[in-house]
Amino acid sequence: MAGNRTFTMIKPDAVKNGHIGAILNQINAAGFKILALKYTHLSAEKAGAFYEVHKERPFYGELVEFMSSGPIVAAILEKENAIEDFRKLIGATNPAEAAEGTIRANYATSIGENAVHGADSDENAIIEGSFHFAGTEIFG
Ligand code: GDP
Repeated sequence: MAGNRTFTMIKPDAVKNGHIGAILNQINAAGFKILALKYTHLSAEKAGAFYEVHKERPFYGELVEFMSSGPIVAAILEKENAIEDFRKLIGATNPAEAAEGTIRANYATSIGENAVHGADSDENAIIEGSFHFAGTEIFG
């Protein structure tokens, strides 16, 4: 059975461009409830650990540098079929290929600086949520 939680981050580009409010609004309007929320700045070390699974990919260094370049917003979200529905809401990794009206189509600037993260499985949503939040910071 598909789980009902996902994990997201509003990435440094979208924060810097003033889109926190609009993105959270679009997330809420799509039926997601916010269970945990944090405005924080990842060190290069923490960003590297978060994206450890991408270590062998050619863009890993760029990704870590970008994700630690400024503050981010991390959140745990709840909705039926959360993983799939949220991936649909954010759109393709490359904003040039993201469907119209998706968060990445609306706010991302490039394949690297693509406004938001969305967990790709129930298992990763739990791992990523626990990376950012203590149990006492999750409400739901
Ligand atoms: P996602 O699940 O849609 O976020 O995509 P991936 O898991 O494939 O990649 C993780 C993140 O790495 C993406 O969201 C981008 O921020 C970054 N990324 C992916 N492909 C590239 C690339 O070709 N160049 C750069 N600079 N960053 C990339």
